[in-house]
Amino acid sequence: MKLNTNYDSLEQSYLFSTIAKKVNEFAQNNPDKKIIRLGIGDVTKPLCQSVISAMHKAVDEMGIQETFRGYGPEQGYDFLRIAVQNYYKNHNVNLDLDEIFISDGAKSDLGNILDIFDKDNIVLVPDPVYPVYVDTNIMAGRKVVFASANEENRFLPAPDESVKVDIIYICSPNNPTGAAYNREQLHKWVKYALKNKAIILYDAAYEAFIEDNTIPHSIYEIEDAKSCAIEFCSLSKTAGFTGTRCGYTIVPAALGKLNKMWVRRQTTKFNGVPYVVQRGAEAVFTEQGQKEIKVNINYYKKNAKIISDTLKELGIWHVGGENSPYIWLKCPNNMASWEFFDYLLNNAQIVGTPGAGFGKNGEGFFRLTSFGSYENTLEAMERIKKLFK
Ligand code: PLP
Repeated sequence: MKLNTNYDSLEQSYLFSTIAKKVNEFAQNNPDKKIIRLGIGDVTKPLCQSVISAMHKAVDEMGIQETFRGYGPEQGYDFLRIAVQNYYKNHNVNLDLDEIFISDGAKSDLGNILDIFDKDNIVLVPDPVYPVYVDTNIMAGRKVVFASANEENRFLPAPDESVKVDIIYICSPNNPTGAAYNREQLHKWVKYALKNKAIILYDAAYEAFIEDNTIPHSIYEIEDAKSCAIEFCSLSKTAGFTGTRCGYTIVPAALGKLNKMWVRRQTTKFNGVPYVVQRGAEAVFTEQGQKEIKVNINYYKKNAKIISDTLKELGIWHVGGENSPYIWLKCPNNMASWEFFDYLLNNAQIVGTPGAGFGKNGEGFFRLTSFGSYENTLEAMERIKKLFK
């Protein structure tokens, strides 16, 4: 037996464990101080009523002989694929049902998709970004190069014709920066991919937070993107499904063999998402479901605006917060990410996430999120104002 030694090349991630350790230590030494957590990367609002009712109904069906369901189609039930198809139509994107694959979330598919690509492809990943893209490729022994996201390009790197790559990751709206590509910027990536016969793996996990109509919800809103992009989306942040697990991946027929390869991969290694969950997901796409999830999204977005407005008032450079639950700020007074983390914890009892944990270019930056409560977000901003006014 030989081990996959590529795992030895993974960087150890101490980000969230170090945060937890520092916060616990502080809490133990300062039991009278109220800590506000603005580092939360998970949703906090419960599932909406339409989803709960649909899931209850589906559970009852599972207990009755006539309506019991066993294995479902690996690619998802048609009722949900049709709901996704209609959702895309709202953004003027027409998809065939065969192009839509229901998954148990974006993270698994983002990792699993690599099964259908050769090990020798060169991969381009923005820095900083959601760490899963890098780690899944390192595990497979692929070479990863980085696109520099920085203050100058407002954390939205453009393609560089002098760098030739085969697989390109784009996350828009981005985690951790909250920055989102507009149509023109995305078009440049599509042009690059078509010219270089590369594939874009487009992570749209935060599309539901987009409010600016210059920003596409789907990469397929860009001409010819179906010939060069696979899109991943999730109900995790859209509808609070982080613990319920459901997402969808689009592999267009225009990608030729890739669509059939993905069918083969999924039918071999995946047995589908639970029926009850798919019924809950279907409810998200109904008119009532959309109304209900918007209430939660708007709650988070109100928090994001409070944070963003406060930073503006204080003259602290930042991106995100408008089409995203994330706000990415430059640490005041040239502090390093972890230095700022300690400063905020000790002086204002606010917890955020040091940008350095998301890549080399994240050093000197800091992520705040809008998934906390309105009252806490407001109080945290008052504390920040006192520190930096
Ligand atoms: N993609 C991005 C950019 C994320 O930030 C996350 C979760 O935080 C995911 C994907 C994972 O989504 P899911 O819960 O659907 O696996």
